[in-house]
Amino acid sequence: MALIVQKYGGSSVADAESIKRVAKRIVDTRRAGHDVVVAVSAMGDTTDEMLDLAHQVAPLPAPRELDMLLSSGERISMALLAMAIHSMGFEARSFTGSQAGMITDAKHGSARIVDVTPVRLREALDEGAIVIVAGFQGFNRDTRDITTLGRGGSDTTAVALAAALEADVCEIYSDVDGIFTADPRVIPRARKLDVISSEEMLELAANGAKVLYIRAVEFARRHGVLIHARSSFSSAEGTYVLGEGMKDPRETEGAAMEEPIVAGVATDLTQAKITVVGVPDVPGKAAEIFTVVAKAGANVDMIVQNVSAASTGRTDISFTLPKSDAPAALKALAAEQADVGFENLVHDDQIGKLSVVGAGMRTHSGVSAILFEALSKTGINIEMISTSEIRISVVLRGSDLADAAREVHSAYGLDSEIEATVHAGTGR
Ligand code: ASP
Ligand code: MG
Repeated sequence: MALIVQKYGGSSVADAESIKRVAKRIVDTRRAGHDVVVAVSAMGDTTDEMLDLAHQVAPLPAPRELDMLLSSGERISMALLAMAIHSMGFEARSFTGSQAGMITDAKHGSARIVDVTPVRLREALDEGAIVIVAGFQGFNRDTRDITTLGRGGSDTTAVALAAALEADVCEIYSDVDGIFTADPRVIPRARKLDVISSEEMLELAANGAKVLYIRAVEFARRHGVLIHARSSFSSAEGTYVLGEGMKDPRETEGAAMEEPIVAGVATDLTQAKITVVGVPDVPGKAAEIFTVVAKAGANVDMIVQNVSAASTGRTDISFTLPKSDAPAALKALAAEQADVGFENLVHDDQIGKLSVVGAGMRTHSGVSAILFEALSKTGINIEMISTSEIRISVVLRGSDLADAAREVHSAYGLDSEIEATVHAGTGR
């Protein structure tokens, strides 16, 4: 007998029928003799719809109230799920984040879990009940307010529960069969991976892959939680995310295969580019610019500085940041234009970022050459490049991103014979 934590995403519980289907899966796990703790997301696109509503009544909704609103989505699905399980003759009890002991800091909208005290969950398990927990939410002890963990936060809830309860595995169910070499919505020939290292998964998630949320992967890595990403629409095995020193649970003797050099390709359309034009090419200017940008709360990703023209003694500095951070950064920079002494600002929100991730890059050469060749073959222009030990990213026109990703995916030999199945969901 094992303790299994399961997380079901919004598209797995989008309507009454899906809730009943998920309830059946949970009951089947229970019937197999396991203890089950479930973290559930809000139904379908509920969270997005509530966000839209909030912005219709207030241009800048108060963060505390926004959390009160958004956390209600998961309360609906948790109660419905518990009811559905009841009607199948099994004992189930739902708990809000605060009842489950999800203690967070006070940062509304992106709170971090600081402690988990699952006393009531343990009691319910001891009494033989299936435990259902509202994902995405917690409670701050100082303010005594409800918080939310940021979009996609139910993954983090599940992993935190798995860590606190020392579960054997944390199964994250979604509308695709596991983790693919690319988003199957963008690249239908993406291939499902049996296993991926948590460090590769972190890079993919940080660079646009939406299948698992970065905070959940980080949490799992820190606390040694085994994640199994799989589909609630099929019974097929999904993808195991292995932290350092973890063994592939399905590895049969002698079956160890050579690891591929590239694990996957990620695409990201959520970034913008700002170019600071005509910056005096003297020491200290980059420091001034990025201090201003940091104070505006912007999260800078790539930076490129052009060679300065000898005749003018000036240079251009371009950087990328989340689209949503751009207005604040532009405003802050414009306010300092005279002090810093640059000529003007150019804002470009039509960029796309393509990243290739693989731990094999550490030991293999020629990985970047394949990328650049694939892009040049299609005549796609590269605007910026950055690398980490196990990643190469390029910035291109956003309109070229899908084509570029398909080309690059084939160039690394990642294409599968068959098209991937996307069972549901809008990918929103
Ligand atoms: N319902 C929340 C969201 O849509 C949390 C989640 O789905 O994990 O972001
Ligand atoms: Mg959701």
